[in-house]
This record gives sequence, C-alpha cells and structure tokens, in this order.
Amino acid sequence: MKEKRIRFFFSVHFKIALVFVLLLMISVEIIGAIFIRELEASTIHTFESNMTTQVETLATNLGSEMSQRNDEPKEQNTKQILSEFSKSDVLEARLVDDKGIVIATSDPNLQGDIGKKNDYELFNAFSQKKEERKDQQTGKRVFVNIEQIYSPTGDAVIGFLYVKSDIESKYQQVSDITLIFFYASMIALVFSVIIALLVARTITKPIGEMKQQAERVANGDYSGHVEVYGKDELGQLGETFNEVSFRIEEAQETMEAERRRLDSVLTHMTDGVIGTDRLGNIILINDMATNVLRTSTQDVMNRSILEVLRLDENYTFRMLLEEQNELLLDFSEQFGEAMLIRAEFSMIRRESGFISGLVCVLHDVTEKEKDEEERRQFVSNVSHELRTPLTSMRSYIEALIDGAWQDPDVAPMFLRVTQEETNRMIRMINDLLQLSRMDANKITLNTELVNLNELFNYVLDRFDMLLKDSDKQHKIKREFTKRAIWVDIDTDRMIQVLDNILNNAMKYSPAGGNITCRLLETHKNVVLSISDEGLGIPKQQLGKVFDRFYRVDKARSREMGGSGLGLAISKEAIKAHGGNIWVESEEGKGSTFFISLPYEPYEEELWE
Ligand code: ADP
Repeated sequence: MKEKRIRFFFSVHFKIALVFVLLLMISVEIIGAIFIRELEASTIHTFESNMTTQVETLATNLGSEMSQRNDEPKEQNTKQILSEFSKSDVLEARLVDDKGIVIATSDPNLQGDIGKKNDYELFNAFSQKKEERKDQQTGKRVFVNIEQIYSPTGDAVIGFLYVKSDIESKYQQVSDITLIFFYASMIALVFSVIIALLVARTITKPIGEMKQQAERVANGDYSGHVEVYGKDELGQLGETFNEVSFRIEEAQETMEAERRRLDSVLTHMTDGVIGTDRLGNIILINDMATNVLRTSTQDVMNRSILEVLRLDENYTFRMLLEEQNELLLDFSEQFGEAMLIRAEFSMIRRESGFISGLVCVLHDVTEKEKDEEERRQFVSNVSHELRTPLTSMRSYIEALIDGAWQDPDVAPMFLRVTQEETNRMIRMINDLLQLSRMDANKITLNTELVNLNELFNYVLDRFDMLLKDSDKQHKIKREFTKRAIWVDIDTDRMIQVLDNILNNAMKYSPAGGNITCRLLETHKNVVLSISDEGLGIPKQQLGKVFDRFYRVDKARSREMGGSGLGLAISKEAIKAHGGNIWVESEEGKGSTFFISLPYEPYEEELWE
C-alpha cells in the first residue's frame, strides 16, 4: 500500500491550529470592539460632563461677578476668571452680555472682538447648548457649551458664556489606545499561532504515527509499535492500537499456521480433494486429485468442476449443490484402463446461509470395485457349481423314491451317480477350503530339502504306471538335467501341483500324444515344464486359466470331473514357495505349463 501524503493545508494539524487562531482572533476582535466602544463612550462622556459642570460653575461665578456695581474691577475680574478657566482643554471661553456684545474672551488672539457684537451665533434666553461640532477654521471636533448667566437673584439673564473645548484630543487618546490594542493583539496572534501549532502537533503527532503503523500493518509488517506519549485519551488510543496490532498479528499467525496445516493435510491425504468457488470453478486441488484424474494443477485451475469430472452432459452445478450426493465416475474409457472414482460432494455454506462453494472428495475405487466384482462372481460360481451336482442328485433320488430302488437294473447305477456327484462336491468343497486357507495365509509349508530331480521322477513314474493300466494313448517323455537339484519345498503340495498339471495335460489331450516333462536350472531358478500335444488354450484366455472356476470349455471340464479350481490352487501353492507358474499355448497344438522355483546352485555342491 502506498503511503498517501496529506498536504499541510488539508491536515488536521493545520485545522486545529486554524481553529485556535480563529477563535482567538474572533474573541480578541469582539472584546476589542466592545472595549474600544466603551472606552470611547466613557472618555467622551466624562469629558463632556466635566466640561459642562465646570462651565456651569464658571457661569455662576461670572453671574455674581457681573452683578457688581463697580465696572472697572468687574471687567478685570471677569477677564481674570476667564483666563484662569482657560486650561489646556479649553480652546476659548467667551463672555457675551445680554445685548450680544462680547465682554471678554480667553483667546489672546481674539481680544479685538471685545466690545463688538458677538459674531459666532445668536445667543438668547433659550440658547443653552452642549454639543459637539466641527470647528470651521481647524476642521477638528470641538465641544461647545453655551450657558446663560443669571443675575445673583436668578430672575434675569445678564449674559452668556460660550466655551469651546478640545474634544478632538480625547478622540485621539482613544484612537492611540486602539492602536496599542491592535499591536498587542497582533503580537498575541503571532504567539497564539506558534502555540496553536505546537499544541496541535502534540495531538497530531501520535495520530500520524498511528496512521503510519496502520499502513505498515496493512502491508503485513507487524514488527513496529506506536509510541505512547502520555496517559490521556491519545495515550490510551495508542495503547489500544498496539494491542489491536498485536492481536491482528496473532490472528494472522494462527491463520497462517492453520493454512499450512490444511495444506499439508491436503497434500498428504490419500483421497483427492477439489474445492470450487460458488460458480463451480476449481480454486483448490490437491496432488492426489490431480493424480487420480491424470491431470495437472495448472490445467484444471479455474476450470469448471463439471468439465473436469466430465459431468457436464448430465449434471448442472446446481444439481451437485442441491443433491449433495455421491457419484461413481467411470474414467476407464478416457484412460484406456479400468478406473472407477467415487466422488462425494458437499457444499460449503457460510453462517449467513450464503453458499460459497463445493468440496469434492475423490476416492479411487477401481480395486475395491474389482474385488467386489470378483467376490460376486465367486459366490455366483460356487452356487452354480453346487447346483449342478445337487440337481442331478435330486433327480436320481426322486427316481429312486418313485420306485426305481426296487429295480435291480437301474438302482445301483443311480446310486453310483449320486455317490460320484457327492464325491465331486466334497472334492470341490475341499478345494475351496484349501483356497480359503491359502487366502487367509493360514497354510504353513512343511518344507524339507528335496532333490527335485527325484521327486519329479517319482511323480512321473506313478503316471507311467497309471497309463500302463489304462487305455490312454499318452506317452511321457523326460528331459531332465543330470544334476541333482536340491530345493526347499513342501513335498505334498508340490506333488499336488504336478499331479494337477499332468492330469490336465492328459484330460485336455483326448487324442493322446507326448507329454514332455523338462527340468532345467537357470542362474537363480529351477524350471519345471510339462508340455502336451492337446487342445491348447486360446490366446486371449491364457491369463485366465489360473482364475478360480475358470474353464475354457465348461462342459468338457465338468465331464472330466474338473471343478476349475485346480490351477488356482496350484498357483497359490507355487506363490507360497516364492515361485512362479505360467502357461504358453497354441490352440489345437498343445500347451506348456512352467513352474519356476527359487534355487541356490551352490547348496547342491555342498551336498555333493
Ligand atoms: P479343471 O478342473 O477344469 O481342469 P483347472 O483349474 O485345472 O480346472 O484348469 C482350468 C482350465 O484350464 C481348464 O478347465 C481348461 O479349460 C484349461 N486347461 C488346463 N490345462 C490345460 C491343458 N493342458 N490344455 C488345455 N487346456 C487346459
């Protein structure tokens, strides 16, 4: 995240300072305005009332002076009084008699007016005045008092007193004070700006630091902490902020650990897992799932799950979500070999009910299904194999019950067939029991060191004897190594295996022919082989003859008393010896069964 710089004039720092200064200016202005107005009013009022009082007193004094009989001293006295009265504030004091003749003036420059008609204005009995006006000569403001002078008895106006005083200087005083006030407020403003900036900084500095720390946290750097400057609200905010970033760091670490754990669980899961978003596009897939589907993460990421699981023809994403079912997917055709996958779907729903996606778990059930199929096949085979002899036995027994037992010609034959079928069933059950014991690994081999050369010869000698007594046209040929081959084997089981293969060689070579038996040693193995010149086995069925109940020609095999379990038992027995059994065959020409057993040649030398 890029750090955004705030211009100074938009900053809180500036705004707080501005508010301070504006508040101060407004208060200073208001206080100043009221103060100046009041000061001016009171200064002027005081001056005017003082002046009026003095003028009134003067008028009274002059009144009594002017009533004196003696003219000379009277004139002198009034002049004296006027000139005494003439102070710095008084510009002119003029005395006018009741006829309008100037008697005296305090202004030395206007002494010429004395004895002349007063030219200022007409004074009369009602011309008592107090007023501020502009002086016509100087243009300055003056305060004019006109007072009637009464005779001591108070019954007649004997003259007028005119006093012009300097009010302009008072105004000047007020304006000087205003100027001082202005300068003082300017200085206060400068100081207040400085103080306001400093105070605002103490507020904005921690906020600025918190902002920077918040940006670092947003970028995933939790290492820093903000400085806590005090115990005030900002200090507490700083502490809380540190606490919050610590908590976020903790939560982030927990989440990260959780994510890693989930990742490792998903990676090591034996089932495939696919996660989608709410539209069904794949956003998560583990290695197992890509293995099962034979694809790669890049190929399926952000693709629709329906497409990847090849469900788009029959299903919609909504159906998967709503039905939340289990599907068995057959990929055998695409992969060119058996592949069955069980897919379980479950939707991810938030607490608010909002569906945020789907999780699909994939299991490779190919083997399981194959096993299941084999089991079903086995049960069906066993039932079928048992039903045939039982059905024929039932018919014979029914015939016997129906009276055939009394017939000496058929009864023995019927009973013999029944006996044969019973024997066949017992044989089959024994074979099955033996196989089931082998499956459960319950058989133990009673191994002993045997000369395989001798053992094979012994078995073949028995068959030679049998052939001599029967009408079979087979000839047994032996192609053995001359050396004695000592191997660790369970003699009984090996004889059983060889008997079975030799019996088969005769059974499936109806026209007789040679049965060639070979014994040879290789570097680490000994190989026995038995070849006949009989019917042979079709190529495509070669791999199946060792399966339980598998017979190329069911009818013929049953006719020969076979159950289809002989080779299966042989295979298990050879496997238990750590060896191998297989067949090569050409249809119509004959088959060769091979048995290889592990063999250590030096042991032979030891024995020799
Ligand atoms: P069975 O009791 O039917 O002989 P086996 O397990 O011994 O059962 O043999 C399985 C099947 O393999 C036989 O039914 C037969 O079709 C075939 N088979 C076995 N040996 C030979 C052989 N030498 N020649 C031709 N087919 C054979």
